[in-house]
Formats: sequence, C-alpha cells, structure tokens
Amino acid sequence: MKVLVINCGSSSLKYQVLDMEDESLLAKGLVERIGIPGSILCHEKTGMEKYNLEAPMADHKDAISHVLDALLDKDHGVLKSMDEIGAVGHRVVHAGEKYAYSVLLSQDVIDALTECTDLAPLHNPPNLLGISACKELMPDTFMVGVFDTAFHQTMEPESYIYAIPYEYYEKYKIRRYGFHGTSHKYVAERAAAILGKPVDDFKVITCHLGNGASITAVKNGKSINTSMGFTPLEGLVMGTRSGDLDPAILQFIAEKENMDVFKVTNILNKKSGIYGISGISNDLRDIEKAVLEGNDRALIAVKVFAHRVKSYIGSYMAEMNGVDAIVFTAGIGENDIGMRAQILENMENLGVELDLELNNIRGIETVISKPDSKVKVLLIPTNEELMIARDTNRIVSELK
Ligand code: ADP
Repeated sequence: MKVLVINCGSSSLKYQVLDMEDESLLAKGLVERIGIPGSILCHEKTGMEKYNLEAPMADHKDAISHVLDALLDKDHGVLKSMDEIGAVGHRVVHAGEKYAYSVLLSQDVIDALTECTDLAPLHNPPNLLGISACKELMPDTFMVGVFDTAFHQTMEPESYIYAIPYEYYEKYKIRRYGFHGTSHKYVAERAAAILGKPVDDFKVITCHLGNGASITAVKNGKSINTSMGFTPLEGLVMGTRSGDLDPAILQFIAEKENMDVFKVTNILNKKSGIYGISGISNDLRDIEKAVLEGNDRALIAVKVFAHRVKSYIGSYMAEMNGVDAIVFTAGIGENDIGMRAQILENMENLGVELDLELNNIRGIETVISKPDSKVKVLLIPTNEELMIARDTNRIVSELK
C-alpha cells in the first residue's frame, strides 16, 4: 500500500508518499505561504532534483490539490492514478485524553478532535483543515490520525497532575499532555533495536532538540514522563520559547510592562528561549557563531540551554533508577556536536561517557558513547513521517 502523510501548519504543509511494501520514500515536499501572496510548492521525487511551483493557494484545499497534481505529474510524479494511495496519515498535534493510539478518522473522531481545539488553538485548527480538505478531494480514501500527545498517555498521575486545585483538572482537563510523541517513540524503539535490547526491558531518555524541544523518559516502551506540559511551552529552553519558569513572572512582567496576560504569554512563546536570551536569533548555528565572536549573551544562551537538558536527564535518571541509553534527535540533537558534548560533560559518575571522536558526526545513526560507557549514547535522526505511515498502514490493513 502507498501512504500519503500530511502535516499541516497554519500557512505551511509538509507531505511524503511512502511505499509500505518496503517503507521506501517515493516523494516528499513542502508548501509554504498558504493563504498568503507568493504561495509556493517545493516537490522532490526521490532521486530527482527538486522542483518549485509558484501558484496562488488561497487555502489548504488549494494547497493539497496542487500536491495531488504534483504526485500525478508525468515528469515529477510518482503515481499514475490517485487510486494508488491506499490511505492518508495525518499528523494531529492534540488529542487530549481521548486517544492514546492512532485511529481511523471517522466523523466522531473528527468531532472529538475539534473539541480539543481549546487545548491547542495554534495547532489543531490547521491539522483539521488538512483533514477536511483531503476528505473533500479524496472522499473514498481512508484517513488516519496520528497524535503528538498519544505516546504520553501512558504517564501516571504523579507525572501529569499539576499541583493546582484538582477541580481545574476535572473541569478543564489542565494536566501535562506532552508532545513530539511520535518522534520520542520512534527513536526509543530504534535505540532498543540498535543496541539489540527488547523494547519492553529498556530504559531510555530521548532528547528531541529542535526549534521546539522536549525530553522524555521511556521505560519498557512507555512514556513515563516528559518535559512539555499542558502546552508545548513547558520544559526545555527552545528557539523562542522560555520553557520552565516561575509562574509569578507572568504577572510581574504584565504589571511592569503594562501588558495583558495574552501579550506576556506571546512573549514567552515567541520572543524568549535562545532568541530572548541572546537577542540574536532562535537558531543555535547563529548563536554559536556569535559565541566565537565573543558575544556574552550568546554564550549564556548556550549554557542555559545545555544546563536545562542536563537537569532533565538527571531527573529522569533518578526517576527510572538509572538508564540504559540516552538518545539525541531533531535539528540540534542530530547536528550540534558541541551541544551534545556540553550537555553530557562531567557525567562519568552517572555512567555516561561520551566519546568525543565518535560524537564528531552529524545526522547519521551512530552510538557515540565510549565502548565501555555504562549508559549508551546514540544519535538517531528522527522519522515522524515513517511512524505516521506505519500506523496508517497497520490500521487500514486491519480493516481489509
Ligand atoms: P523544528 O522541526 O522544531 O522546526 P528542527 O528539528 O528542524 O526543528 O531543528 C531546527 C533547529 O536545529 C534550528 O533552529 C537550529 O537551531 C538547529 N540546527 C540545525 N542544524 C544545526 C547545526 N548544524 N548546528 C546547530 N544547530 C543546528
């Protein structure tokens, strides 16, 4: 079966087509500036050069319709007819407490996801737009939803309940949900496979360090704690997000700067993190360049970022009574050699010994700890699309 994977943002859309016979990638692409002048589709058939198509795309339906045209194109396409697509897998950010697994997108499920919009006002609406556009354009094709929150639904109350009046959990479902679940699950399973350990007897800390960043404690294949919370704002320091801070700071800034709570929250989401500390950029590559040029704030930003990750690793090691492995993934985790070294510096007493030579690598699945390190350290490029395609393929194959 061929599976189309769709990941819709508010003005962008990523897609891939995979052949699930051998899990090969047939084509992938990105549409940007949906609903904004200058809409552009960048399509890449595996093994061929990328090609760009500029055309007005007023909404997600327009964008997906151009994607389908690209997939059928006689030169750059990979399909003779749309019937070859057996199912579409949609990335959906928030499924609340409703879904701990991927599911077929029936109308009931779509209604339940629409109810979760309150919990993810920036993410779920574009995800839902993508689903309805695909349903209109491909009415007879199965659609599956794969949720960022699902993997973390195995957490126990001690990990997900906040110490605020319990009625807020009961009334409004305020709790830790956690995100990036598809990525954490993928790299945790890959780490077990690479090390030749059974997933159900394996303790691993997975560090997904991208522009958004989160870290998860995975015990015997299940997420038992994760750093992102009710929203993706909690936890690690990120490109523009603050991560953890004293909640009293919100009111303090609001009073001092004469702002309302929405504005302050917006600052914590969009003007904080690496960008906020350094005042330069949200991209660690720019920050590290500035460090070399002697910029003090850039240096503080790098140190705060590394320190926060290390603190979480220590906390999760305590929570799991030690770990078998630590995994780095996503843009920073896969590429930033110096950051990995800084995070794991001086952890020999905890059995973590990075091999600086093996660590000198980017983007390739590798064990980067010293051969006798008690805790293995791995670099594993994430592949959320493959996970979405696998779940989609499994769920639809079971229907037939
Ligand atoms: P997201 O999917 O959350 O947007 P990614 O996983 O694509 O993020 O990661 C993007 C981030 O990865 C960039 O903002 C940048 O900070 C970081 N990054 C990518 N390549 C490198 C590199 N070679 N060195 C350091 N950081 C890098």
